[in-house]
Amino acid sequence: MEYKHFSHHHNLNLYRVQQGQTFHCSGSETSCTSDSIYACWQCNFFLHDHCGNPNRFIKHPSHPSHPLILLPSPTYCSGTFLCNACGATGKSFSYCCATCEVDLHLHCAFLPPKVNHKSHTHELSLVHTIPEKGAFRDHDCKILQLLSANLFT
Ligand SMILES: [Zn+2]
Ligand SMILES: [Zn+2]
Ligand SMILES: [Zn+2]
Ligand SMILES: [Zn+2]
Repeated sequence: MEYKHFSHHHNLNLYRVQQGQTFHCSGSETSCTSDSIYACWQCNFFLHDHCGNPNRFIKHPSHPSHPLILLPSPTYCSGTFLCNACGATGKSFSYCCATCEVDLHLHCAFLPPKVNHKSHTHELSLVHTIPEKGAFRDHDCKILQLLSANLFT
C-alpha cells in the first residue's frame, strides 16, 4: 500500500516492524520498535503510523485561542523549536501557532491531560507551561521525559 505524506516527496509504504528491529521516527524524533511504520527505504525516512496520520490542525487545551498547525520542520532561522510542553528543543514535526510562537512536539501535543504513572503514587497532571527555572524540580522533569518517551511504546 502506497501512502503520500505531506512532509516527504516520495510515497511511503506501510511496513510491519519485525521483532528486534528499531527505526528512528523522523516525525517525533523517537525510536520505533513495534507495530507499523510508514517507510521510504530510499531515504531511510520512517514515521510511526500515529505520526504519519496526525491532523494538520488541532485545538489544544494549552492554547485555546488559535488552532495549532502541524509543521514538518521548524520555521525559525535556528532550525529548532523550543517545546512549550516539555521545555526541550526539537527539530522535526511540531504543532505550532506562529502568531504566539507556541510550539509543541508531536508526542507532547498528544500527552493525556492526566495520567497515573507507575513511578509515582499520585496522579500526575500535565503541565502546559514550564515554571520559571529552578521552580521545577529535577525528578519532575525525569517523569515528564519518561512519559513522553513511553507514551507510544
Ligand atoms: Zn513518531
Ligand atoms: Zn524518500
Ligand atoms: Zn515536547
Ligand atoms: Zn496563538
